[in-house]
Amino acid sequence: MKRVEAHWKKGGRIRAEWQQRYNEQQQQQPDQANTASQAGRTVYVLPMFPYPSGALHMGHVRVYSISDVMAHYHRFQGAQVLHPMGWDAFGLPAENAARQHHVQPQDWTRQNIASMKEQLIHLGLTFDWDREVATCDPSYYRWTQWIFLQLLAQNLVYQAEALVNWDPVDRTVDENGRSWRSGAVVEKKPLKQWFVRSTQYAQSLLDGLDESVLTGWRDVVSMQRSWIGPCDGFKFKFGLNAELESQDLWVWTSRPELLWGSAFVGITPEHILAQTHDQSELPEFQINEGRVQRLPLQAVNPMDPKHILPILLFHDTDDFPSESDHFLGIPEICAMSRSVAEALTIPFTSVLSTDQTTLMNSSQFSGQSLAAAKASILDQARAHNAGGYAVSSRLKDWLISRQRYWGTPIPIIHCEGCGAVPVPFEDLPVVLPELDSLKHETGEFGESPLAQAREWLEDVVCPKCGSNHARRETDTMDTFVDSAWYFLRYLDPKNGSEICGQGPAQALPVDVYIGGKEHATLHLYFARFITHFLHHLGISPVKEPFKKLIVQGMVKSKTYKQVTSDGRFVPESEVDLSQEPLVEKSSGEEVISYWDKMSKSKFNGVDPKHVIDKYGCDTTRLMMLAEASPTAERLWSEDSYTSINQLQTRFLKLLRLAQSVHVEEVKGSVRSKEFKAHEERLINSRNFHVSGTNFAYATTSNLRFVVHKIQSLLKDLWITPDVVKRDCVEFQRGLATAIILMTPMSPHFCAELWEGLRQVKVKQCPNYRWDKTVFHQDWPQMDRDWKLSLGVEFKDKNIDQIPLSIDTLNDLTHKSALKLVEERPQYQAIFGTNPVLSEFHVEKDHRAVLNVKFDMAKMSPQQRKQLREQEKEEKRRKRERRQEKIAAFQAIEAKKTVK
Ligand SMILES: [Zn+2]
Repeated sequence: MKRVEAHWKKGGRIRAEWQQRYNEQQQQQPDQANTASQAGRTVYVLPMFPYPSGALHMGHVRVYSISDVMAHYHRFQGAQVLHPMGWDAFGLPAENAARQHHVQPQDWTRQNIASMKEQLIHLGLTFDWDREVATCDPSYYRWTQWIFLQLLAQNLVYQAEALVNWDPVDRTVDENGRSWRSGAVVEKKPLKQWFVRSTQYAQSLLDGLDESVLTGWRDVVSMQRSWIGPCDGFKFKFGLNAELESQDLWVWTSRPELLWGSAFVGITPEHILAQTHDQSELPEFQINEGRVQRLPLQAVNPMDPKHILPILLFHDTDDFPSESDHFLGIPEICAMSRSVAEALTIPFTSVLSTDQTTLMNSSQFSGQSLAAAKASILDQARAHNAGGYAVSSRLKDWLISRQRYWGTPIPIIHCEGCGAVPVPFEDLPVVLPELDSLKHETGEFGESPLAQAREWLEDVVCPKCGSNHARRETDTMDTFVDSAWYFLRYLDPKNGSEICGQGPAQALPVDVYIGGKEHATLHLYFARFITHFLHHLGISPVKEPFKKLIVQGMVKSKTYKQVTSDGRFVPESEVDLSQEPLVEKSSGEEVISYWDKMSKSKFNGVDPKHVIDKYGCDTTRLMMLAEASPTAERLWSEDSYTSINQLQTRFLKLLRLAQSVHVEEVKGSVRSKEFKAHEERLINSRNFHVSGTNFAYATTSNLRFVVHKIQSLLKDLWITPDVVKRDCVEFQRGLATAIILMTPMSPHFCAELWEGLRQVKVKQCPNYRWDKTVFHQDWPQMDRDWKLSLGVEFKDKNIDQIPLSIDTLNDLTHKSALKLVEERPQYQAIFGTNPVLSEFHVEKDHRAVLNVKFDMAKMSPQQRKQLREQEKEEKRRKRERRQEKIAAFQAIEAKKTVK
């Protein structure tokens, strides 16, 4: 095996040949992005791009192996495959490295990208490197800034105060709520920051989850749903009549038509307005509803400046809407609100007519029916930019400001006279200035390290009034903004005049998106939001960016921990594995072992480089993929090498036999009847395994199942007598089939096997391109006359298999399947003419299943009685059989004892 793997090393024969073939194919199929609309089918296979930390980890090996298999598979289907790779390259680690090691974040990041790219190439992954993007390139973040300006132009960006975690020792803002180096307890402080009004798209994002194109999302749909929440209310932008003139107050209510009936706005102690006031100085009331304080400012009804509401701070917030930090008190429909208003003598009006069907005391909406009033109030609010869109009580807007250096600069210029002015589109990108050194502390509270870049920042010309004393915004964007649209840029990465051309954009949606579950909420939510927005702008042809999701399971490894003393983690090399209980070699202390996520601090990390150096890239891939389906956890151990090695060895031995039977003397003979039987068996085996493998590749993405199917096909080939191997075309055909089916999983090894097969003296199958590599072969299909089957299930048991031609099976409907089944004796014996309920599903080109049970509701009392008797009789027979078995067993045991 090692000898074969040696060829795969960088620069080796197979590797070079594979790369050449790949380049040839690229030349035959010119850049898909420019021809996607006119050329044939494009399949977009996208693995989540990595953060360039500098070294691949085993989770990367897994996700990129899965995506590479998918890319190979779809290329074999004749599709033009997009399989791009890039870097999610902004973020805190670069900034921390810069502070610790006095390097430039860009240099640190560039070095990491270079070394990780080399590692990926070493793994033999077929990425479209000419599409590579890095979010920290000005040519990329120019368009991130462009998206920000577009959002701003559509009134979807605003500034508001929000609380940030302030580390008083390090003098930095910290997102995690704890200091990354000082360990100091952070303070929460209000800071004016930039927000994206993503909540305006809540309904659209919720509806998108029902789109039928989404496959494989499973629980991700419910994760998205629960993040967004039920859009059962509406938000309104109330004014604040206080010194904070720029601050708005967004208020959610499920009854917008009763706006004029509201008496106050209640807030929780966590609300920004509660945090920006000295609570000890607020007037306090002890009422039945608990402690309530009154703020020295009021909210103003966005539709009626005369309608002014007090703002009350509630210390008991049980009655607030779910996960909301505020609520609108409407006494007419809420007893609690009524009693609070009465206790504090807050005036309120009745807005419902006696029969509760029409509005009164509601300005121009008085006299309208509730439904009509609701519609016109929402219309008005939307027209005046005062909210009025459906959203849940819990969903919050997207805070995108970061007081960080290494991120996309927010393209805003602050002018004393004009306020916050957007940088004109033609002036993009606003390039991140180089800083001589990233100082440890950022200086004043809430200041980004960018505040040190005086020349970049100060005395900028205001795009609006031309004053040259304006100042640049120093906040940078949340890295989730960078990664919310990278899949669009891959389609047209070098376009200097547009974010993505109309033609290339047609490759959306992504056909298969592969990544970890940890990104199934926030990243997917933001990427979906941005795509819905870009669809609204006419840039994305679709609202939903990702069709099929493969949510890969985590890679875990054996972890060792001391039982006693301080519970220290112990590296595996320090553990004596030869005895139970396990002990640490040096101290003799007992250790326990369990599976856990890999991490440096637990000494359980596995470096992919060591594994690849030891086993080669194809074997590493197979070890990663063959043990667990992509969505399950992979409990990493090198033990799986044994079975992979067996599989590879079997391939090699079969290949040698395929060669030798035509040049060496073959012993033995078979009768023609026996020969025929083997031929039949091999035909069935090939078809059966092709059907299963194709279904796994195309539908379930269960790559573990693919390996099992191939192992099973090889076994069928293995047990064939040598004479049959020599004379029966089906042997060579089966082996060729197995090699091609295996190629996406293990491309270099299979390319080598195919070379071997080409050297077989007698080519019995004319259907292959024997002058070409394995990558030029047609993908194996079932014989058109081979029969698939419709399985009939009753009480989780298969009671019948009906062979059907492929076309008949693919065309089956629930009705036609039931009709077929009803005529069969097996069905008749159980169901007769009794009414039944059935469930049907068909997996095209694979199988169909009809699940049948009695329809008790439709049965007559007579029929039900009969059925009960039948069941009783069945149970009795079962009992009898069991007793017979026990008796037989006892008899054998008795004999043994006698002996
Ligand atoms: Zn100005």
